[in-house]
Amino acid sequence: MDTLFISDIHLSQERPEKIQLFIQFFRDPAVRCAGAVYILGDLFEYFWLGNDDHTPPAGEIIDELMDFTRSGSRLYFIRGNRELVMDKGFKALTGCVMLDDMTVIELDGEKILLTHGDVLCTRDVKYQWYRRFMELGFIRKLFISFPYPLRTFLVNGLRPVMRRSADRKPPEIIDVDQTAVERAMRSHGVLEIIHGHTHRPDVHQFNLDGRAARRYVLGDWYREDTVLVCNAGGKQLMRIRDYIKE
Ligand code: MN
Repeated sequence: MDTLFISDIHLSQERPEKIQLFIQFFRDPAVRCAGAVYILGDLFEYFWLGNDDHTPPAGEIIDELMDFTRSGSRLYFIRGNRELVMDKGFKALTGCVMLDDMTVIELDGEKILLTHGDVLCTRDVKYQWYRRFMELGFIRKLFISFPYPLRTFLVNGLRPVMRRSADRKPPEIIDVDQTAVERAMRSHGVLEIIHGHTHRPDVHQFNLDGRAARRYVLGDWYREDTVLVCNAGGKQLMRIRDYIKE
């Protein structure tokens, strides 16, 4: 049985073909029969405003995910940097199981560490400060307590600032730091890690304390539309279209 991992779908009204692809994916018999689907963050393009967020296509996507879990399929969700204020209410909306960032799962007897990936980009010091600030319980509660129009106003106001700062960062700063990857893997006792966020789909093999280790990076759905397919035969990064047409 397949276990599927996707991330960085970045759904928005500006890319209707990706909304269609997402819906097609979750209705596909192969996906419905999979042991589980894991979404490792950044489901939507725009910052999640809270459980009352009705920015299209949120409603349509939430209904689709609820339909998927109601049919008996298992769905897991790890929050990305677009979902920093998302809480357990998302479970009630979609029927998914919310997992903490840096959760260890066991697949075919192997322990695997799951994360969105942004916490591993430790060279981007400013971003890590921002993330830690947003993760403070009282900041999240305060943000969620604001009226919906105010939250929209704040996020829209901050977007150009965040975009400008991201554009100015050199590529090596916005990639994960190998030392941070190894530290996380060591402390969780794993030889495999799966993450997204960097939009650089790849499989990296390296040596971790004398043992063969692997880092699987999921791609975004802007261009590549990748899914990591895991089963008894191994793990393979595939294009969504190649997977669902099988
Ligand atoms: Mn991200």
